[in-house]
This record gives sequence, structure tokens and C-alpha cells, in this order.
Amino acid sequence: MNDQNTYKMRILPTKPIDHTVFSMDNLTQERRMEPFVTGEGVIDYQCGSCGHFILRSLRWAQVTQAVYKCPKCGHYNQIEPIVKKH
Ligand SMILES: [Zn+2]
Repeated sequence: MNDQNTYKMRILPTKPIDHTVFSMDNLTQERRMEPFVTGEGVIDYQCGSCGHFILRSLRWAQVTQAVYKCPKCGHYNQIEPIVKKH
């Protein structure tokens, strides 16, 4: 049974100055098209602009404070903060 969930990330209008930004600008073109993170969970995150897979198979949104620059279209993406229930 496949419970994979795919979410689109939130596009930031400009490069954020108060967050860590991960980019693949220093990698070869071939490596850049791979996801930043590949885990063993059921959550995928796509670029909110072009749909490129930025994070794959996460267990949960562990990385909400980070911003990822899409290697395909160059937009800055952030995971929507998820309100935890306690
Ligand atoms: Zn993109």
C-alpha cells in the first residue's frame, strides 16, 4: 500500500536573510537534479513553482527552518510550518 504524500513548498519572493539557504549552485548539472534529501518516510516536497522534487521520502517535516533554492527554476522554497498538536 502506497501512502506517499506529496506537498508543494511555499515560494519565497526574495532570498531570505534570516534563514539558512541550501542551494546546489556548486554542484554539476547532473547532481543538481537529485533531491536535497532522500529519506525513508512517506512525505515528498516539490518546488512550489516548477514541481521539481526537492525533498523525497521524509518521515516528517523535520526541516522547516531551512530554505531550499530550486536547482531547476531558481525559486526559494520553504516548507509550510506545520502546527503540532499536543
Ligand atoms: Zn523549481
